[in-house]
Amino acid sequence: SVSLPASGARRRVGVMGGTFDPIHNGHLVAASEVADRFGLDEVVFVPTGRPWQKRQVTAAEDRYLMTVIATASNPRFSVSRVDIDRAGDTYTVDTLKDLRSLRPDTDLFFITGADALASILSWQDWEEMFSLATFVGVTRPGYHLAADHLSDAQRDRLFLVEVPALAISSTECRARADAGRPVWYLVPDGVVQYIAKRRLYSSRPERGPGPE
Ligand code: ATP
Ligand code: MG
Repeated sequence: SVSLPASGARRRVGVMGGTFDPIHNGHLVAASEVADRFGLDEVVFVPTGRPWQKRQVTAAEDRYLMTVIATASNPRFSVSRVDIDRAGDTYTVDTLKDLRSLRPDTDLFFITGADALASILSWQDWEEMFSLATFVGVTRPGYHLAADHLSDAQRDRLFLVEVPALAISSTECRARADAGRPVWYLVPDGVVQYIAKRRLYSSRPERGPGPE
């Protein structure tokens, strides 16, 4: 027989938003670490749609597929298309509202780099966001978040977690791929292969005939 959660028990779901261009092991370690610390049942990775304030990014479908490849082996990781399928810029509040309506009876934990968190809290509608989720900023050891403008109740829904592997960035992975240097072990094996297959970050002209 199937054991159902005790009545009143709510699922605890992490939400990891990002451009994921490409997804890398820093993202995966952060999600895994926060899931462990906060006893999460699931972490949903949410690739952004058209990103605001950012350089030209790789097609959403490529970023989505790399995220699926990277998370496929973990039974507690999943990928959502809500931000990709919504028109216009991605705002955290919309992500949270969409996930909330798709999964009622869940407590959401929004996971983000502490630097990104500081900027979200400085300009997005943080009062509404705190009504939708608990916020978890992943940091290097010793980082302090400027949270002076928050109320005590809001600060109670804001946590910082120190994670290893924070030196990895998508920017560095793209630069390496473009220079023909290895990205092995910075991103999952399947993502290394997907980048090569689609020649995602190579600005150099293609040589000779080949498949596709
Ligand atoms: P870019 O270099 O293009 O800015 P990125 O490596 O920061 O990319 P994003 O997709 O922008 O990757 O990040 C998604 C989320 O993951 C953000 O909240 C970001 O702060 C966080 N993040 C990025 N790199 C790491 C890392 N190494 N460890 C933990 N969190 C990270
Ligand atoms: Mg970034």
